[in-house]
Formats: sequence, structure tokens, C-alpha cells
Amino acid sequence: MVGTESFFIRTSGCNLRCWFCDTPYASWHPEGQVMAIDALVDRVHGEGPSHVVLTGGEPLLPAAAVNLSQALMDAGFHLTIETAGTIDKPIACDLLSLSPKLGGSAPDPGEHPRWNRLHEERRLPLETMQRLIHAARDFQVKFVVNDQRQFDEAAEIAEALDVKGGNVFIMPQGTTLVELDRAESWLRPLTESVGYHYCDRMQIRWYGNRRGT
Ligand code: SF4
Repeated sequence: MVGTESFFIRTSGCNLRCWFCDTPYASWHPEGQVMAIDALVDRVHGEGPSHVVLTGGEPLLPAAAVNLSQALMDAGFHLTIETAGTIDKPIACDLLSLSPKLGGSAPDPGEHPRWNRLHEERRLPLETMQRLIHAARDFQVKFVVNDQRQFDEAAEIAEALDVKGGNVFIMPQGTTLVELDRAESWLRPLTESVGYHYCDRMQIRWYGNRRGT
């Protein structure tokens, strides 16, 4: 939830490799440290916030995703999981934030032929997404949109998932205030006209496009 103080756990590694990934240190060039689940839960306890966001990379990719999510829930945290929804695992969470990747997200086929193919094969498993939605206590489906064609595609996916407007969030593509303002002028009215939520990139407005926000 925007404005809620939260502890972010970012797992490293992703099975999609979008060309525009803004966390390449967790996808294309994974880095970070290995931590035991108990030590991680203790660390979160020590930091204070009761809300935890498990994100990535793709947080359902690590083998420990199921045990980690269960440990955080058992410890009493409010857990949000941000996922592209391509991996079927019995995760526990309070809020599933599902972000399906739209056509045009794949990396360049000339530069990354293998990842281009894998991305297209993996990006839209509707049955897996529906299972994740039905297993979550609450959910939202979030799309990053750059133009009218992508907005229409997002609406088609929401319909295929049988997700109603109140659970759909549209976020503009953009990493500068100028880009966000330009997108908002046409995308917000369009989004709200069909009953979806418009979701600005507040972290960029508050902190700029930088790591750790
Ligand atoms: S799914 Fe997310 S983390 Fe993975 S490459 Fe795409 S934008 Fe990056």
C-alpha cells in the first residue's frame, strides 16, 4: 500500500528478463547475499515495520519461496508478494500483487535469442495466475502501460483472468517526472473511465529513479 512503512525483501534471479527491467541487479545480473530464513525473519523483526513486501527479480523462483512466505505469515507480518505470476507455488500471503508482462516486454531477439524465446513461452500462463489469485487472501492485478495498444491488451488479460475493475491497477511506463506527467494526462482518464485504478509511480516522484526505493 502506498505510504505504508514496509520492509522489502528482494530475491535475486528472474525467469523472464524483460528488456526494460529496472532491477537488473536482481534479474539480468543477479547479486546479493544468501540468508537463512530464520535469520531473515529475525532481521525483519529487528527493523520494526509490520508490513513486509517480498519482491524480486521473481520472488516465486527460489526454492525457499514457500517456506519463506509461510515463515513471515507465521511471524505475524502483513505480507505482500509482488510477482509476474508465471510460477505455480503454494505461497501464503495477505496481498498478491500480480503483474503480468505484456507483449513487447521480451528482450531483443537478436541480442538475447534464448531469453526472447523463454520470455514469450513463460510470460502469460493464465491458469497459473488464476490459481495464485484464488489462493491469496486479497489480490491486485497491475499492468505497466505505455500506449493505447498496451492498455487494450491489459484489459483483455484482465477479462481472461475474470478479474473485475476494482482489482485492476494501471501504472504508466516512465522514469522521469516529465514522462509520468505526460502519461497521466491521457492514461488516468482512460483508466478511470472503465473502473480501473490509476497507480502513479510515487517512488519516482518522491525519490527519483534510483536503487533502494
Ligand atoms: S519480471 Fe520483473 S524482475 Fe523480472 S525481468 Fe521483468 S521487470 Fe525485471
